[in-house]
Order: sequence, then structure tokens, then C-alpha cells
Amino acid sequence: MRAGGQLFILSAPSGAGKTTLLKQVMQQVRGLSFSVSHTTRAPREGESNGVDYHFVSVDEFLQMRDKNQFLEWAEVHGNFYGTSKPEILKTLEQGLDIILDIDVQGAAIILKDKLVPAVSVFIAPPSLAELEKRLRGRGTDSDETIAVRLGNAEKEMQAAPDYEYLVINDSVEDAAAALVSVIVAERSRSRRLPTGEAIDLNLFCRTV
Ligand code: ADP
Ligand code: 5GP
Repeated sequence: MRAGGQLFILSAPSGAGKTTLLKQVMQQVRGLSFSVSHTTRAPREGESNGVDYHFVSVDEFLQMRDKNQFLEWAEVHGNFYGTSKPEILKTLEQGLDIILDIDVQGAAIILKDKLVPAVSVFIAPPSLAELEKRLRGRGTDSDETIAVRLGNAEKEMQAAPDYEYLVINDSVEDAAAALVSVIVAERSRSRRLPTGEAIDLNLFCRTV
């Protein structure tokens, strides 16, 4: 019934809990796929190529960029990250919804270009002190990397008003429920019916 899939953009300062929330949301929402980005960052322990990211060299990344293969790309915390344009367009054409975990620069590009209409959600930590605690508690990044990410966090937080939705990740359960609500509500928008298509009123009639 729907005229193509919906693109959802999720952004947050590193450590705010995007990955944690996404895992919960993907289990609860059907027909939603996750866009696997390309990155030049080294894999963290437990991350798999093709699942968490496509891990590529700087040369490979720049070749893809020069061939216009990215819907958006950005340098974040000293590494390159990009979203594959063919992958996104193919998924949306199949009528599937797709969710992107991208930084504020990449989100701004997609929202400005308007090549693909997107629903944007910003995830904020309850405080910067809690953000630092989570980054340290994750135990995957060096002190130097954590310092870079915390330094960027305040700047990234300033982009929050540019997003349609704001979710504060205080309790994981509440934040995941809020995210699921956003997705479900957006899927129910009447503009998502193909233009001119009449709603079958029989759907609302009880059969006798
Ligand atoms: P991101 O993907 O945004 O960088 P992660 O999902 O990796 O963040 O979360 C960073 C750390 O914070 C992880 O160790 C995760 O378990 C923890 N975390 C995530 N959400 C919460 C929360 N609501 N309360 C406490 N800890 C959390
Ligand atoms: P991490 O290295 O912690 O996985 O991600 C660091 C940052 O890069 C996060 O803010 C994440 O949202 C962002 N990111 C991940 N993939 C992409 C992408 O394809 N494009 C952009 N612009 N940012 C991305």
C-alpha cells in the first residue's frame, strides 16, 4: 500500500547510546533495515565487516567518494564515514524502511539535498557527565579517542534543534519505546499512501 520506503536518520554524540537503542528497535519493528555504512575506522572488538560497518581503506573510500557512490559522507572524529547511495535507493524502491546512524554533518547534507525525504531523530544523553561515563564504561576507546569524542559532543548537541524529534536516552527502555513510537507514527501518515489511491473503506467495516 505504501509508495516506497521511508528513510529515518538517527544522530547523537558518540556514546549517547545509538547502537544500544538501535539493537532494541530493530528487534521490535518489522520491515526496517539498517544501513551499513562504510568507514575507514578500525573495527572495534566484536564488530564484524558487513554487519556493523563495511571497513575499507582510505584509498577505497576516496575512490567510492569520487565515483559519487555516497548519498552523504563526512569526516568524523578523524575517520571517514559514508552511506552507500545505491544501497539506500534500492532498499527504498523495494518499499522497505531504512534507518541511518550518521553524524550531524551527514544528516545536514541529506536534509538539505532532499534527494530522499527523511525523518530525523536526535538522541541526546541526559548530561555530558553521563556521556563521559558511558564512553569510558564501553571500554572500547583509548583516553585520546574519548577526549576527541567528548570535545565534539558539545558542538554536535547544538544541532539537536535541526531534527524533527528529540529522544533523551536516560532509560534504555523508555528511549527505545519513544523511537519505536516515532517510527510507527511516521508509518501511519496519510501522505504515505500512493497519490490518488482511495482507502478501502471495507477495511473499517465489521463483517456480519
Ligand atoms: P553510540 O552508539 O551512540 O556510540 P553505544 O550504544 O555504544 O553508543 O553506548 C555507549 C555505552 O553506553 C555502552 O556501553 C552502552 O551499554 C551504554 N548505554 C547506552 N544507553 C545507556 C543508558 N540508557 N543507560 C546507561 N548506559 C547506557
Ligand atoms: P562510531 O565510530 O562510534 O561507530 O561512529 C562515530 C560517528 O560516526 C557516529 O556519530 C556515527 O553516527 C557516525 N557515522 C556512522 N556512519 C556514518 C555515515 O555513514 N555517515 C556519517 N556522516 N556519519 C556516520
